[in-house]
Amino acid sequence: MAHIQDFLAHQVGSRPDALALTDSIGTRWSFAEADRASTDLAARLKDAGVVPGDRVLMLSENCAPAVAALFAAWKLGATIIPVNARQTEAEVKRILDHARPAAALMTCEASRDAATHAERMGATEIAGSFGRLHLARPFDSNPDPDLGDVAVLLYTTGTTGDPKGVMLTHDNVRFGGMASATLRDMTPDDLVYGVLPITHVFGLASVVTAATYAGAAVQLEARFSAAKLYEALQGGVTLLSAVPQMHALLMQYTKEQGHTQLGSDKLRYVSSGAAPLDPAWKRKAEAFYGVALQNGYGMTESTAGVCATRNPMGSADISVGPVLPGVEIKIDDTVEGGGDGSGEVMTRGAHVMKGYYRNPEETAKVLDAEGWMRTGDLGKIDAQGHLHILGRSKELIIHGGFNVYPPEVEAALNDHPQVIQSAVIGRMKDGDEQVLAFVQVAEGDTVDPADLKAFVGERLAGYKRPSRIYLGTSLPAAPTGKILKHRLLEAFADQLD
Ligand code: ATP
Ligand code: MG
Repeated sequence: MAHIQDFLAHQVGSRPDALALTDSIGTRWSFAEADRASTDLAARLKDAGVVPGDRVLMLSENCAPAVAALFAAWKLGATIIPVNARQTEAEVKRILDHARPAAALMTCEASRDAATHAERMGATEIAGSFGRLHLARPFDSNPDPDLGDVAVLLYTTGTTGDPKGVMLTHDNVRFGGMASATLRDMTPDDLVYGVLPITHVFGLASVVTAATYAGAAVQLEARFSAAKLYEALQGGVTLLSAVPQMHALLMQYTKEQGHTQLGSDKLRYVSSGAAPLDPAWKRKAEAFYGVALQNGYGMTESTAGVCATRNPMGSADISVGPVLPGVEIKIDDTVEGGGDGSGEVMTRGAHVMKGYYRNPEETAKVLDAEGWMRTGDLGKIDAQGHLHILGRSKELIIHGGFNVYPPEVEAALNDHPQVIQSAVIGRMKDGDEQVLAFVQVAEGDTVDPADLKAFVGERLAGYKRPSRIYLGTSLPAAPTGKILKHRLLEAFADQLD
């Protein structure tokens, strides 16, 4: 069986001294140094009693020691569970109880939150060529024979409910990394900006794994900051992958600073993924970056990539593009909200997960005997074979008998110059689902909800218009920046009627 660490071994064999990664705590590793760091750390984990089939929890924010932790676990034949250190104690506890890891590593130098977890778990500091980490032993070694080929257990974002543990095999992650590198024509000359958390599939497969496969360097950033991203783009980053919210926040920052165009001749590929991209953002972002913004679609369960656009700049295409090579999709139009060629998106191929860990019931709901996986997203495929995502099945709003897809309403709101981002959900009232909109505006900015209503009224059919618009200076978000819709009502509780 081939392993993800084979990509690293290949780089060490051919270009040992080339730059592999840098981070915000001052680390700078060549491929040979990254390899040595992970081998050292693997030995420490082995001394701590970790054996093949064990799980190793990693509580991190992006930094070099976190990358060493991934490769160390793989070299040992263990399964890594990358968890963002910004998750709360309760969220971490749920994962601990579910996965029973024999070791936990915390990246305390790059993350105050990791240090808090380390203290609570009674971890001790270990140091070596991997830098400094904290190590705890939450459970005794308890290898699981079912995890032999499983490289990563990734708990989903939890946008729609409790996170589930997605089992991704070495083959899944290798496929995801190669597909992503190939899509971007990634080469050893590239400098990839690594702000997407490597604890999320998008950062893990499309950034770290892809760059290791292609031999590109990664500039890891522990936390998103628009100012730092702007600086990195000035500093020669060639590839940028981000969630739409990051592009939106960068646009807000550049507007405040009076920068209208990036003016870098190095940046050559920018992508947006993990959440809907709307036309207004795409237009604004392309004008700023000076390169096309490619929309990619995928999920944790599909090791990131399913589809991605390959458009020239200025294209009005707002689909998520054709499938990646080796990936299949089809539409099940018999589901609720489906019909006429639209329905639930299903996908099949080497990117599809092995299943949900210790959850055969949920696995059976999404995977069938022929290898097709239900994505939970509604979409349609156009004449060119491009997939259009309409929204999640669970978030479909049925108002007055009509289907309202939240991303379309959000796109209309985001078109307003004062709106940074927005989120639309449905709420049952008097037997019908109301369309509620939550809008983020800049601190000190005043927008009249009535004006905003009139603005979207010109863009949307009556039944799609929000019946209420709530304003705030922030929206509840996951560590990636994705908006957590199930927390909106709670976050805006004081404004609700
Ligand atoms: P959970 O499954 O725990 O509720 P989640 O689905 O948000 O969380 P992820 O795996 O991070 O967790 O996100 C994948 C989902 O994000 C997809 O199923 C889809 O709904 C959405 N998505 C991803 N990329 C795009 C895109 N380009 N356009 C529209 N939606 C997208
Ligand atoms: Mg999901």
